[in-house]
Amino acid sequence: MICPVCAGRQIGKVGVEQYYCWNCCVEFNSHTDNVVVYDLDEDGSLVAWDDFFLDTQEVSQAVAE
Ligand SMILES: [Zn+2]
Repeated sequence: MICPVCAGRQIGKVGVEQYYCWNCCVEFNSHTDNVVVYDLDEDGSLVAWDDFFLDTQEVSQAVAE
């Protein structure tokens, strides 16, 4: 498991298929082939990065490992 944004390994698990990167301060999930990255809003809600897609299988696999 690595961060899909920075490829770092400072990852904490925060829920089912939900992870937090201490380096980027973002959350992301690890659904099979569709990783979604979220910013944490000021009120604590998650805001998905609409323009962030992992469209290569190589990156998705690296994230999932
Ligand atoms: Zn990161």
